[in-house]
Amino acid sequence: MTTWLDEVEGLTLKGQIAVPYTWSVGEVGSRFFVAIRDEKKILGNRCEGCGTVYVPPRKNCGRCFKDIQGWVELGNEGVVTAHSIVRFHYPVQPAKPPFAYAVIKLDGADVGLVHIIKENLESLKNGVRVKAVFKEERAGNILDIDSFQIL
Ligand SMILES: [Zn+2]
Repeated sequence: MTTWLDEVEGLTLKGQIAVPYTWSVGEVGSRFFVAIRDEKKILGNRCEGCGTVYVPPRKNCGRCFKDIQGWVELGNEGVVTAHSIVRFHYPVQPAKPPFAYAVIKLDGADVGLVHIIKENLESLKNGVRVKAVFKEERAGNILDIDSFQIL
């Protein structure tokens, strides 16, 4: 069976489209974001099976696959375990370059939280201590933490 595609040259066009979307962050994500928005607190959760403390919190443990029930209030400070400095502009970035994406292991957590560092990038290296800086007006998303500041 032949189709019109057998008789014409197939072309593709390159471009970008904006696709607005809304979705539920779920029970665990909601508690995490509400605590940041309303109390400037970063919550993690601890797996009762293996003891791993996650931040952002998870519904299920990625190591032992148990449901996670126990909440843990973490401090606002931690250590950078990996980072990458961004020097080019792209519309979806959360900050104006230069800034850094960093994996931050908050005190009391066993896994890293990915966030951004905007200032003193010349001092940024793995192992530096950082502290969360919260926005004055918060909306219930991860950018309610404006950035992390090198201590
Ligand atoms: Zn576990």
